[in-house]
Amino acid sequence: MPLVHLSDMINHASRHNYAVGAFGVNNLHFLEGIIQAAEKRRAPVVLNLIESHFENHDFELLLPAVTAAARRTDVPVAINSDHGTSLASAERAIRAGCNGVMVDTSALLFSDNLWQTRDVVAKAHACGVTVEGELGYVPGVEGENAKHHPGELSYTSAAEAAGFVELTGVDCLAVSIGTVHGRMKGVPKLDYARLAKIKEAVSVPLVIHGGTGLSDDQFRRLIANGVAKINYYTALAEAANRRIKDNVAAERKGIHNALLSGVSDVVREEVERCIHLWGCSGRAAEVLAQCRPWHDAEHVIFYNVPETISESEIATIHREGKKALEAIPGVRSIRTSRTIQLDGEYRCCLSVCLASKTAVEAFLKHPAYHHFANTNFWSLITDHITLDLEES
Ligand SMILES: [Zn+2]
Repeated sequence: MPLVHLSDMINHASRHNYAVGAFGVNNLHFLEGIIQAAEKRRAPVVLNLIESHFENHDFELLLPAVTAAARRTDVPVAINSDHGTSLASAERAIRAGCNGVMVDTSALLFSDNLWQTRDVVAKAHACGVTVEGELGYVPGVEGENAKHHPGELSYTSAAEAAGFVELTGVDCLAVSIGTVHGRMKGVPKLDYARLAKIKEAVSVPLVIHGGTGLSDDQFRRLIANGVAKINYYTALAEAANRRIKDNVAAERKGIHNALLSGVSDVVREEVERCIHLWGCSGRAAEVLAQCRPWHDAEHVIFYNVPETISESEIATIHREGKKALEAIPGVRSIRTSRTIQLDGEYRCCLSVCLASKTAVEAFLKHPAYHHFANTNFWSLITDHITLDLEES
């Protein structure tokens, strides 16, 4: 089971002085390239779903493929939602299958950033999900991701970072020390002294956004000064674009698949280079041994209804149950079903799939669950059993 807790994965990198890569997954070609690179290098990897890209594809359709890739591989994987702008987007990401969320409210005033991040931490931690906050501002300069990060660079202050981490409870912190989203014009100047001060001031691992264009030496110095996760996308997109342009030049028949051929290969090559440079190569086994595996969980109710209750009344109960329970944080899906055996002990089933065992505990305490159960459910059914299940 290669899905692991994201906070455990980043803490492992932090303890062992390397950085795990969070590579932007834009489509299946990127997904395949990133996973193949991690497998080839026997490395842990974060599959990063960037919220600003959701205008180009349906996030909820891509996530099942990302989850399938994570479960099929034998290297440790975490699935992170990047640059979520609200509590609602964090809840949506957790529902869809992410076990890490990043809160992007760093453009707001310090206090607004702090309170909004704190809200996300409360909801995400109730599901066992890792939260990354950002303090300071990493702007966009050039490249397709740049336009989503308008404004001026604002450096992270070590003094503010200490208070921010303590008061929000974030598991890791993205900092601004001179990198930009997209590709930097000219040579990036990074403030290592500031980074070292922030590292000293906070108790959580640090994250760098905007890795494209940094030199090998700059990456090494970032890691030596406490960076344990690096977000990386633009260089992968650039490699994919070059490949597609070459294909267009060479392909005369206009066969669509020929235009996209080799894209996953160039993504894989660049991810492999980063994995090796950032010290992740060969870490898969120790990460799997030392990090908690991530297991989905389920709350299942088998029940019977009196014969006086009609089929349409049962359908109404199920409909109302779905509506009331789906909104609870950590609920991924709800299935209602009927047993196939007519002479079985129970005729009906309500099954709630949740993000984790922790999410089941929060679900059972949630007022919306109690309201539905006490007003619409327990009084209508005759007998029941409940089971809480964890994936094994
Ligand atoms: Zn970013």
